[in-house]
Amino acid sequence: MPELPEVEALATFLRERAVGRTIARIDVAAINAVKTFDPALTALYGAEITGASRHGKFLDVDVSGLHLITHLSRAGWLQWRDALPPAPPRPGGKGPIAVRVHLDDSSGFPPHEVASQLRGGPGFDLTEAGTQKRLAVYVVRDPVEVPGIARLGPDALAVSRDQLQALLADQRAQIKRAITDQTVLAGIGNAYSDEILHTARLSPFKIAAKLTEDELARLHDAIGTVLRDAVSRSVGQKAATLKAEKRSGLQVHARTGLPCPVCGDTVREVSFADRAFQYCPTCQTEGRELADRRLSRLLK
Ligand SMILES: [Zn+2]
Repeated sequence: MPELPEVEALATFLRERAVGRTIARIDVAAINAVKTFDPALTALYGAEITGASRHGKFLDVDVSGLHLITHLSRAGWLQWRDALPPAPPRPGGKGPIAVRVHLDDSSGFPPHEVASQLRGGPGFDLTEAGTQKRLAVYVVRDPVEVPGIARLGPDALAVSRDQLQALLADQRAQIKRAITDQTVLAGIGNAYSDEILHTARLSPFKIAAKLTEDELARLHDAIGTVLRDAVSRSVGQKAATLKAEKRSGLQVHARTGLPCPVCGDTVREVSFADRAFQYCPTCQTEGRELADRRLSRLLK
């Protein structure tokens, strides 16, 4: 699942490659992915992309004051193409493409319809793997019109230690759940919470409100270092030209059975339904293995 670092990398990529270009046309293959109808997608036709940014895990493409916003959900991605096929993808097809955004080769001229239909200009696909289709696209005048953005807590990369303490003070949830709750803190999901808690040497089951001063300081430091390191790695990888889930540099997440790079203990997994998380007993839980049954209280 794309989290803060990957979405930041996609926004960086779009700032380099898409800003200054004009949207020629948008093909919708997965009609259910589009969550808004006013303004219409066609309101973006002929308008210049003027920025790209991130709100938590939402990607925001600023199109001359209108916002094309995407939540990639668990299996979504943005794939940049220097030359898109001019024929639209089949609506309702089984393929991964949800929405295809055609851009003009150079902003303004030649006329955008002609350019995109004859040659296939540059642009990007919003794709979603698997059968669960949860990728969501919005066109809004103000990003806070997207309910998920209006509910976001402060950005994980912008929060001070005092703010973090205040945010967690009334959180009775376990820390793993609290820091992945987007209304508490925006941007962190399953993968980077594993990494952050490992770096902070904290058990995922600790109650958020009960962290000591020292534990809170370690958590705040870990949020900053883990996310900043991941952003610089992700940006370096040119995210939008890669397949999804090209993460590197992880210490425990998705490394079940491998040695912890810090202490050499074996990374363990707690699994529940369709998800799992990883931790190192020596670094995080005083050597204790966590039982799967405890997860029912941890994850929704
Ligand atoms: Zn370890």
